[in-house]
Amino acid sequence: MSESIEQLVIIGSGPAGWTAAIYAARAQLKPLVYIGVPKQNPSIVLPGGQLMLTTDVENYPGFPEGVSGPEMMAAFQKQAERFGTRVIGEDIARVEFSPDPAALPHVLHTAGGKQVRARAVLIATGATANWIGLENEMRLARSGGGVSACAVCDGALPMFRDQPLAVVGGGDTAMEEATYLTKFASRVYVIHRRDKLRASKVMQDRFLSRPNAEVLWNKVVVDVLGAEKTEGVRLRDTVTGEESTLAVKGLFIAIGHTPATGFLQGSGLEFDDAGYIALKTRSSGTNLPGVFAAGDVADPRYRQAVTAAGMGCQAALDAEHWLGHHGLL
Ligand code: NAP
Repeated sequence: MSESIEQLVIIGSGPAGWTAAIYAARAQLKPLVYIGVPKQNPSIVLPGGQLMLTTDVENYPGFPEGVSGPEMMAAFQKQAERFGTRVIGEDIARVEFSPDPAALPHVLHTAGGKQVRARAVLIATGATANWIGLENEMRLARSGGGVSACAVCDGALPMFRDQPLAVVGGGDTAMEEATYLTKFASRVYVIHRRDKLRASKVMQDRFLSRPNAEVLWNKVVVDVLGAEKTEGVRLRDTVTGEESTLAVKGLFIAIGHTPATGFLQGSGLEFDDAGYIALKTRSSGTNLPGVFAAGDVADPRYRQAVTAAGMGCQAALDAEHWLGHHGLL
């Protein structure tokens, strides 16, 4: 075990993690950021988070011409490093949170078998969008070819304007995304695997009241068509088994998200019903002392780069305050 005790370890390297690192480094906490390693399970998970799979970010303030997700995350990292953030390309596999970290530090175990001791830990590991898991779906999502898991991020791109688009899912997110897309698309099809939507009535009504909205009931997507750009989807009827083709220029997957909390199971940290880290009201604090969370891992609702960055700022300030309060600065 290393002799030194870190003041603050940040786990995760999306907008929340990097913003926390910028604030913590400027506050001279010398943060250590574990950015993880690339993996595919089957969603692609990269250091930098979901923005690494986003071709154009057009809704982050300060970039009037837009910016690519990877470019933006590289800039966040550079800014964090400029103030002395240290970065390690390894996963944290397991944690042992201390009930009194001022006396006995938290211990983090890396996937490579090392141990890191820390007074404060800030979790910003994000969430991954759930995908259907089709080969062509993943290929066109990775290449920016018209498959996306975020309509609010990508729906306003010129390639989708006045085109027929499809949204997969029957929950509130699917309704919200589909309603948003009706502003740009010629027609929006919601493809749902059952004959009843899971979404709340108000969200259903909002979508169904649009003149260019349509629900295709009892259908699943079995393939995405198109070499470089999405040209259509192959559908299978879940009742009759019949297959059909629907011509669309964009496919938005809205079948839920999974927060990246696997390494936290059994740690004593509290989660909400959907598996997201439960935060104290109006704070980034968790149920454990010296453990903070920010970004999508603790936010099932907004899931935007700008809200994650804001949460990262709050968490770094909360961690700094907590360290100061315990005489650990
Ligand atoms: P969700 O409620 O879990 O709904 C996921 C939908 O995707 C379900 O309709 C499900 O079908 C479908 N689905 C799941 N796996 C699928 C697969 N492999 N193939 C095809 N369809 C699949 O997730 P969500 O819509 O992202 O919502 C998450 C939470 O956030 C909810 O609590 C929601 O109320 C909340 N939310 C609220 C708002 C708002 O109030 N403004 C907006 C967005 C989200 P089945 O129905 O058949 O299971």
